[in-house]
Amino acid sequence: MRTRIKELRSEIDRINRELLALLAERGRIAQEIGRIQTALDLPHYDPVREAEMLDYLTRENPGPFPNETIKHLFKEIFKASLTLEEAEDQKAFLYSRRGHPEPTVVEAGPARFGAEKLVIAGPCSIESQAQMEETAAFLAEKGVKVLRGGAYKPRTSPYAFQGLGEAGLEIGRDAARRHGMAFVTEVMDTRDVEKVAEYADILQVGARNMQNFALLKEVGRARKPVLLKRGMSATVEEWFYAAEYILAQGNDRVILAERGIRTFEKWTRNTLDLSGAVLAKQETHLPVVVDVTHAAGRTDLLAPLARAALAAGVDAVHVEVHPNPLVALSDNRQQLDFAGFERFLAAIADLL
Ligand code: PEP
Ligand code: MN
Repeated sequence: MRTRIKELRSEIDRINRELLALLAERGRIAQEIGRIQTALDLPHYDPVREAEMLDYLTRENPGPFPNETIKHLFKEIFKASLTLEEAEDQKAFLYSRRGHPEPTVVEAGPARFGAEKLVIAGPCSIESQAQMEETAAFLAEKGVKVLRGGAYKPRTSPYAFQGLGEAGLEIGRDAARRHGMAFVTEVMDTRDVEKVAEYADILQVGARNMQNFALLKEVGRARKPVLLKRGMSATVEEWFYAAEYILAQGNDRVILAERGIRTFEKWTRNTLDLSGAVLAKQETHLPVVVDVTHAAGRTDLLAPLARAALAAGVDAVHVEVHPNPLVALSDNRQQLDFAGFERFLAAIADLL
């Protein structure tokens, strides 16, 4: 009896090998179909064709497996083949590391995103010339190469401080220039892109505008690097597609920023999605920033989150710093004061 089992098992092994060879052949044909569909801009998924195949297979099923089992097994094969077909598209995406294995380096003033570890720091909003001068002087002295500050602020309430507008842009640019830093600031409106690009070294697209496709196209036409924040409820794929909008316009200087996503958690403002940031590093060739301030929304988590992000391989951390956070006109509970920033920097120094 035992020798019979052995014999039968070797039959099973032979069949497994044959199935494997047939699956490989099926997979290669699916890939070829996928390539043709991609070239013709046709969808890969064809529900009518799938239903026809399942009908045929259940009609021809000789048993002993019941039709439900045959359907289940073949549906898995269809799904795996569809994944292969879709993988053919991925190669074509401009953001993808597949067609562009070497990492992109984005230069802005003295900063080289993707080639060195960086800190982006500065206040949430630009409030005055004195505030920006004091902050830039302090940060530059600590070796920070990129100064942030919002002149156009996306505020939840229309009655909250909306930013100083063009006057703020001028203040931010001048403070950065005086201290040899690059200046990054948010642009919210297609009508402002040209103006903001005159002052900023890096245009920031905020979380709330990640799927503002008109804005993405407009910054895609600008001759400046773009810091693209991930939307607070955006999937990683939607974030990458947003980057694709910019890249497709011919602007290849895109920096991705994970800034926390909305979850059920209340003890933090958002939830830092470190896996999203790591995926961005693995799947794309673009530099990746982690904004710990907007992710955590509280100062006591900033250093450990920044350590985790840098250890996971991101290119830069982003943190809000204000000379006197308590009187800041926006985000006053989450910004670091100067002493807090010094402690933050010391806590991450070995990873920079
Ligand atoms: C900001 O960086 O100023 C900002 C508003 O961030 P986010 O768009 O990520 O909320
Ligand atoms: Mn802020």
